[in-house]
Amino acid sequence: MPPAHPFDDDKLKEECGIFGVVGVTDAANFVALGLHALQHRGQEAGGIVSHHPEHGFNNARRFGYVRDNFTSQKLMETLPGELAIGHVRYSTAGSKGQTQIRDVQPFFGEFSMGGAAIAHNGNITNAEALRKELIERGSIFQSSSDSECIIHLMARSLQRNIPERMEDALRRVEGAFSVVAMTRTKLIGVRDPLGVRPLVLGKIGDGWALSSETCALDIIGAEYVREIEPGEMVVITADKGVESIRPFRPQKSRFCIFEHVYFSRPDSIIGDRSVYETRRQIGVELARETPVEADLVCPVPDSGTPAAIGYAHESGIPYGMGIIRNQYMGRTFIEPTEQIRNMGVRLKLNVNRALIKGKRVVLVDDSVVRGTTSRKIKEMILDAGAAEVHFRIASPPTAWPCFYGVDTPQREKLLAATMSEEEMRDHLGVDSLKFISLDGLYRAVGEASGRDAKSPQYCDACFSGEYPVKPSDMVEKGFRMKAAE
Ligand code: SF4
Repeated sequence: MPPAHPFDDDKLKEECGIFGVVGVTDAANFVALGLHALQHRGQEAGGIVSHHPEHGFNNARRFGYVRDNFTSQKLMETLPGELAIGHVRYSTAGSKGQTQIRDVQPFFGEFSMGGAAIAHNGNITNAEALRKELIERGSIFQSSSDSECIIHLMARSLQRNIPERMEDALRRVEGAFSVVAMTRTKLIGVRDPLGVRPLVLGKIGDGWALSSETCALDIIGAEYVREIEPGEMVVITADKGVESIRPFRPQKSRFCIFEHVYFSRPDSIIGDRSVYETRRQIGVELARETPVEADLVCPVPDSGTPAAIGYAHESGIPYGMGIIRNQYMGRTFIEPTEQIRNMGVRLKLNVNRALIKGKRVVLVDDSVVRGTTSRKIKEMILDAGAAEVHFRIASPPTAWPCFYGVDTPQREKLLAATMSEEEMRDHLGVDSLKFISLDGLYRAVGEASGRDAKSPQYCDACFSGEYPVKPSDMVEKGFRMKAAE
């Protein structure tokens, strides 16, 4: 497994991407392409399961990038059939940071009515309680992943077919889940009742595709049809098309607002809005809320770029690429010797000195997590001769951990959990530090009146501390939720 780059532990990280297709020849090749487009959602490992009427179920699970594994003709020939699903992972609730191949999805189970494979994006917040109960009742777990609970719950269901068993299983599960699953003939997609994590439907020729994001539909030439709705299950067959089922009690949706800010690719569409355009609009709101006298607006590449464009446009301050990213800086390049670790951010980002020198610079970044990267970037900018450095952040202070499928440091490690905005500014050593407000962020994602405090339109727990689903395993372990106001 490639070592983590020092730059990477200062971002929240989406933990999974899922993709599936039915009704196309060599479905696994399409899944590999889809997973390649979703690689930003997880780089540690990936897996594909396919089904062929004569060859049955086949699977391949590998560490590393999709392009380094699932481009081999020899490997792809072992995954025949017109139905396949796949998964890329960072590291889930399973063996965090120490991925074992047995934790790599999709997971497969053999039931009396046939086999089924399942790939999950999200995090089951009552997984430990479920696992304990299942083990006491005789289940034998193969992995340390929370997602495996779904397979065991399905095995214990008394329903007669696999989609109904899956409904049964998912009704017992709490937390955030988008699931892509398959039987011998069916592709199945499900979103949790709050729709925290994304899942979209696409059409390709006579077949269908399910994906975490629309950018992966584009890569295979599929047409975007719609989002799978919160609480919806779709059962798709090549001949009958899409059947929609509502297994859960209807609830108001609470999609992850951070997908808009950072996780999703800017060329994806969420809720009929371009992610790029939303991020640009965040920059516009940020400029309105936090103006500053300056000479230059620079993005912290790459994710700060659209917001910086919006900030510059709204403020009238010239935009420039003051920081250049080394595009070829893959994680696999680095052996983390102490000497290289100390070079840190400089390996990935370099300052455009000619542009920066003597200027009052506004740096626009998507988030501040631990603050380690922000400090180093500030040093680089000052070393290059900037007169002033002003940080503008395209999300509110990240003060709470996420328990819904995003890797976050423990609460004490989050800068905003232990410091006020002024203390953070002093800690980072910048001339000013400002974050977009929660209302401003809501306006930028299309909620004209901002956040509805009584019934928020999105999950924003990492900013507000208001968790839409109680993280019961974590509370059991001593995590203290915010007291009700
Ligand atoms: S806590 Fe934050 S990152 Fe996690 S699902 Fe909610 S908004 Fe997204």
